[in-house]
Amino acid sequence: MPELPEVETLRRDLERTVLGRTITNVWVSPDAPRLVQCPFEELREHVCGARLESMSRRGKILIFELSDGQGYMLLHRRMSGNLLYRPVDALPDAFTRMVFTLDDGFELRFVDLRKFGRLWLVDDPSEITSVLGPEPLDEGFTVETLAEAFQGRKAPIKATLLDQTVIAGLGNLYSDESLFLAGVHPQRPANSLTLEELSRLRVGILEALAEGLHDRGSSLGTTLRDHINLDGSPGEHQHRVYVFQRTGQPCYRCETPVQRIKIGGRSTHFCPNCQK
Ligand SMILES: [Zn+2]
Repeated sequence: MPELPEVETLRRDLERTVLGRTITNVWVSPDAPRLVQCPFEELREHVCGARLESMSRRGKILIFELSDGQGYMLLHRRMSGNLLYRPVDALPDAFTRMVFTLDDGFELRFVDLRKFGRLWLVDDPSEITSVLGPEPLDEGFTVETLAEAFQGRKAPIKATLLDQTVIAGLGNLYSDESLFLAGVHPQRPANSLTLEELSRLRVGILEALAEGLHDRGSSLGTTLRDHINLDGSPGEHQHRVYVFQRTGQPCYRCETPVQRIKIGGRSTHFCPNCQK
């Protein structure tokens, strides 16, 4: 499931590949009626003839700026959404739900097995993104940011990290990895962390995200169910995780078997010896 590093890897690839290209056509599959959050005609009017002026990101949401005041397209990949850059005459990709034809003989295919992906067309990205918490890769992401975000929150730190209104961009994998790197037990109430622990958690989050970015994201299970990159290649980070889905295997630091518990309905992996 794409989290911040997977979405940011896609954003960087898009910037290198399609920045400045013009969209000449758009198609949405009738079997994905909930994908586009506006009438199809409206989408077509706004995007056909529009140039892709910039690609940015907020949390797990990808933001395309369209030329000539045509607004912004916001894409949330959710569980299994991937964008693929293919020549227009390339063989079809399974589960293609939406296609943007470009003026360079290629197209962007949105492929989404589980159909939870969403696309919005807005005048101002904040219409969608204003509910999100602070951005971990921003310079202003400090220990004070975390202290403020966790204030009064008694829920387990793991569940709190998954709440996009508290911090944007973390999902199940990078939350588990961040907590391991910080040496913090996932069941600790968020507001119980000391300043020292918050400091370690901040570093842990940044390190986990940086490692994910370095590896071009994580691709677990079959690629169609999970993250793949713009060229169709999988990420590599799944081979380098510390605890995520390593249940029963020895901790790399102390050799205690990694444990798996459920927190807020989500599988959580941690080392019972290293994480207090
Ligand atoms: Zn350990």
